[in-house]
Amino acid sequence: MVSKYSGRCLCGEISYSIDVEPLFTGNCHCKDCQRSSGSAFIPAMLFSEESVSVRGEAKYFESSADNGNIHRRGFCPNCGSQLFAKFNTMPGVLGVKAGTLDNPSGYVPKLDFYVASAAPWDHMSPQLPKKIGAAQS
Ligand SMILES: [Zn+2]
Ligand SMILES: [Zn+2]
Repeated sequence: MVSKYSGRCLCGEISYSIDVEPLFTGNCHCKDCQRSSGSAFIPAMLFSEESVSVRGEAKYFESSADNGNIHRRGFCPNCGSQLFAKFNTMPGVLGVKAGTLDNPSGYVPKLDFYVASAAPWDHMSPQLPKKIGAAQS
């Protein structure tokens, strides 16, 4: 059986599969996402944690945003690829970074958020709605 969504880190030590549709999809342009990914933004999908089947064990790095919210970023301890996210404000929800998908066209962003922090060389789709700050506010 083929899952709706599947993906893995660069070395393959961590992989996942998901059989439901995401609760949310959007591109986060905040500075923490830029710094932790080394790129312009993180393409984020949110799923209920129980619907994501993970093989391998991600290591989580915790940071707190300006508003005090805790964001835990899950990455492969071997190759460093960032795959997952957990938020203290959203218990039971797992973020999945769409760059790790086996099929990149499975990701359809609905929103650009934290666009106030976007880098000047970060070119966004004019078709997507923009939020200055957090996606949910
Ligand atoms: Zn890896
Ligand atoms: Zn972010």
